[in-house]
Amino acid sequence: MNQLQEKAEFLSVCREISNEIKELLIASRKKGEALDREVGLGADGAPTYQVDALAERKALELIERAGFCGRIITEEQGTLQLGESADTIWLDPIDGSRNAYRNFPYYALSVALFHKNTFKSGYIRNLANGDEFLAQEGVATLNGTPLKTIPRPPKKVGIVVIRPRTQKGFVFLHALQQRVRFLRICGAAALDITYIASGAVDAFLDLDRGLKTVDYAAAQPLLELAGGVVSDLRGQPIRLQEDLTTRAKILAASNTQLHSMLLGLLKEFGYGS
Ligand SMILES: [Mg+2]
Repeated sequence: MNQLQEKAEFLSVCREISNEIKELLIASRKKGEALDREVGLGADGAPTYQVDALAERKALELIERAGFCGRIITEEQGTLQLGESADTIWLDPIDGSRNAYRNFPYYALSVALFHKNTFKSGYIRNLANGDEFLAQEGVATLNGTPLKTIPRPPKKVGIVVIRPRTQKGFVFLHALQQRVRFLRICGAAALDITYIASGAVDAFLDLDRGLKTVDYAAAQPLLELAGGVVSDLRGQPIRLQEDLTTRAKILAASNTQLHSMLLGLLKEFGYGS
């Protein structure tokens, strides 16, 4: 059995990866290294920045050193095979690359471990403030404390969105903002979904671009364990997509009532079909 299937070992390896990436970024900034330099094209079809390349290299090195055997699907390099097993790690070394290279303090490491298609463990760490989210054995925690989403009436709801790319998207957000307390665009999708679990925000919406599986492989099960609901914009389940160029438009909410309310509004604005 893989060492990383051990609950404590998974946490310890993920924590080490996050600490090392954090140190790397601090050192690189000190040296004045251009973390925003484009160094290639990622498996997701988007540019790989120096910040992504540095973090991914470090993460892969530590996962390999931990003796992981199986498949790693990672944002920049795509699918890598480290020996044969039915385990897969979904890795986003830096969720929120732009925030990371500009030192806007909202970016994360995201790691999910699956055995075949069954979720085993998930780890998301906000590398800027150290918040550590863990999903394992039916429990989601933040810094060791179990999480339960907070139900709020629509007038108190806060929603994080991905910036729309269409006129239709902006029209929808205009209508949405009149029904809730606040909207935010924060720039790191895994963190956006994860912070619903702790009640920092109440929902997440990506209308136009869609997320890659590495963005939600850890965040989705973590939020669901805390009582949240995740679907596509029509309310259908989202799946793991090994091809990182395949994207899923996502609605995530703290509870079924809010999820249904948002689905209804989406439908009203032509997102339901
Ligand atoms: Mg990334």
